[in-house]
Amino acid sequence: MDLRIDADRLWQSLMDLARIGATPLGGVRRITLTDLDREGRDCVVDWFRAAGLEVRVDPIGNIFGRRAGRDPSRPPVVAGSHIDTQPSGGKFDGAYGVLAGLEVVRTLNDHAVETEAPIEVAAWTNEEGSRYTPVMMGSGVFAGVFPLQHALERTDVDGKSAGDELERIGYAGSAPLATPVGAYFEAHIEQGPILEETRNTIGIVTGALGQRWFDVTVTGMNAHAGPTPMPLRKDALLAASRIVGEVNRIALTEAPHGRGTVGFMQVAPNSRNVVPGEVKFSVDFRHPADAGLQAMKEKLSKACAQVEGE
Ligand SMILES: [Zn+2]
Repeated sequence: MDLRIDADRLWQSLMDLARIGATPLGGVRRITLTDLDREGRDCVVDWFRAAGLEVRVDPIGNIFGRRAGRDPSRPPVVAGSHIDTQPSGGKFDGAYGVLAGLEVVRTLNDHAVETEAPIEVAAWTNEEGSRYTPVMMGSGVFAGVFPLQHALERTDVDGKSAGDELERIGYAGSAPLATPVGAYFEAHIEQGPILEETRNTIGIVTGALGQRWFDVTVTGMNAHAGPTPMPLRKDALLAASRIVGEVNRIALTEAPHGRGTVGFMQVAPNSRNVVPGEVKFSVDFRHPADAGLQAMKEKLSKACAQVEGE
């Protein structure tokens, strides 16, 4: 059977959900466990029920809509994402993952397709982490990575706890956590430029980049820009700039997936006529493999030692 989703219906649902918390420039501000989040949740739950899904909510507020399969003993195939946003978020980020799952269910319904395993659509609580840390709180509690009680006790800047806010908006449920999942799919807009660059409309994520962060301090010696001859200087910024170049070179030796970024720097005393005595900067390395990250770290240590020696 050649099943195709109804693109217009999916688009309409995305636009309808995006009205809840819409911002003047076309974005969405629907921060987790606020009244707007409740409105968004109510909207999604109504759609789930209209599609015949059996809705359950767990104690961290994750919402699941279940479509029965022929074999109820099988763990469900789950598709989902999140509907909370950053303070200046967009229309598609997590909403697309949830509504894409719903559109699949609607399409199966249209064609009266029965599946072997049950299908569930999930909306995870507080993926963004902008109001409550940690990020990915709902899925983390579900998977047993974060203890439930710890998550419920997190507070926002006004001292309101996640547990109280869940109760207030009516989404502190009692469905069991950590239930078996047969397979999980999450459709997501790409947040980088690669698909556009390669003129592809869709790609499959095969992994995420692990990261290592370093704080580097280069110590030289403050000196007057005029009276201090070049050979007698210990210019911390000159040394730092060479290390920045190395960070870039190291990432290129780990092509195509290695990344190396210096995005933060403080120069002291930061005066136009003083040779800098101290520079602090960050290094962000990313790589899909632990061994790659380790290799990048070792190359950085070597590069720093060499610059220091010179
Ligand atoms: Zn997202």
